[in-house]
Amino acid sequence: MNPKDFVAVKRYGRNYPPGAISEFVEGFCQGEIPDYQVAAWLMAVVFSGLSSAEVSELTQAMIGSGRRFLRQAGDGFWVDKHSTGGVGDKTSLILVPLIAATAERLWGRGRVKIPMVSGRGLGHTGGTLDKLESVPGLRTALAESEALSLLEAQGFFMMGQTKDFVPADRKLYGLRDVTATVESIPLIVSSIMSKKIAEGLDGVVIDLKVGRGAFMKTLESARALGAALNEMARSHGVKVETWITRMEEPLGRTVGNLIEVEECHRFLESPEQADGGLREVTVALAASMLAQAGAPKNESRGEIERTLETRTALPLFQKMLTSQGGDWQEFLLAVDRLRGGRKVELLAWDDGIVQAIEAEKVGHTLVEWGGGRVRAEDSIDPMVGIEFAAKVGDVVRTGQRLATAYLGNGPFRRDVEAQLRESLRIGKDTVAKNSMIIECLE
Ligand code: URA
Repeated sequence: MNPKDFVAVKRYGRNYPPGAISEFVEGFCQGEIPDYQVAAWLMAVVFSGLSSAEVSELTQAMIGSGRRFLRQAGDGFWVDKHSTGGVGDKTSLILVPLIAATAERLWGRGRVKIPMVSGRGLGHTGGTLDKLESVPGLRTALAESEALSLLEAQGFFMMGQTKDFVPADRKLYGLRDVTATVESIPLIVSSIMSKKIAEGLDGVVIDLKVGRGAFMKTLESARALGAALNEMARSHGVKVETWITRMEEPLGRTVGNLIEVEECHRFLESPEQADGGLREVTVALAASMLAQAGAPKNESRGEIERTLETRTALPLFQKMLTSQGGDWQEFLLAVDRLRGGRKVELLAWDDGIVQAIEAEKVGHTLVEWGGGRVRAEDSIDPMVGIEFAAKVGDVVRTGQRLATAYLGNGPFRRDVEAQLRESLRIGKDTVAKNSMIIECLE
């Protein structure tokens, strides 16, 4: 194969003969095709798209680039959740202990398993792996044997793509993050579904974000992505439900890595004080996962609420972090250091109502401050974060705190307050607090 000719086919918007995409993916994984040619191809796909046969071949090639998890007869119902990417989107970290605790209460240990494979930050959105790795000592690069023994022993693990597990997605994902090639339905479908199918899942719940802070800006494009994701899952025998949820302002109260893990801990500790939007999305996704696993649909939400009220997921949250090497005491100390470290407050400059908090701007700001990557080789400062004291629709008075920026270990900056202010609008109009959930595509 001549990679340059391969790229040119998509530049002209033509289709590939069967087998060509597989050969290209293999060449990339073997190190025979360099990043710059793959980056050019990704951009051609963003503009020209892929046919459905090509998306299937790409997904299959990505799955085949590594090993799949092998299932044994009677090893329970394997369910996972995946988000298409948002700002402050931390639900995975709450869902794992929440589902594990609820399933254990309903059916005992072993009936439901959550082999969660997540991603890193992508574009302006955060990644579950980066959040997890902000916990001192925690490892997300698990070998298959370790992942499967955690699954057997406690019913869950959280890991990323490795050199053995969907390595093609690992490489493509990293390139897409830094080459502005995330916003493409075929690339998102193959990236998400290669992981989910290689996991050997029985069921998956997708949180498909739509809005100014999401990769899908319109409901029409979100529905098209949802239909493609559902079709790909079903064609591989995986049960699927896709929830289209709003991504206009950040989800929850915090954006960052360590600070989001702390918010998840607090969520499970005091769910009655949790951010309403975060709670709404988390409960809907959790109920959907539980129903896939066999709970009656009309009871699954109540069961999730019960787990929250009884705080039974809280010890499992700690276990989720420590079973993969995270040091709990160091995590608590790191949170203290973050809160006691350098910070800048943004105060309300007028009386009024918060009209908007632009999630995409917030995400870009966080990346610029070191909380995400600009280049593939960048490391992340886990201590950088933003906490919002007011959300859209809240009434605020002049001088009241709107947000706090935690600046971590990065260089001194003069423009922090101004940058934060650019993301927020205060006005006089009343703003309805919309439900976060738009629709569910079954
Ligand atoms: N999550 C993924 O795993 N891949 C994408 O392309 C987007 C979100």
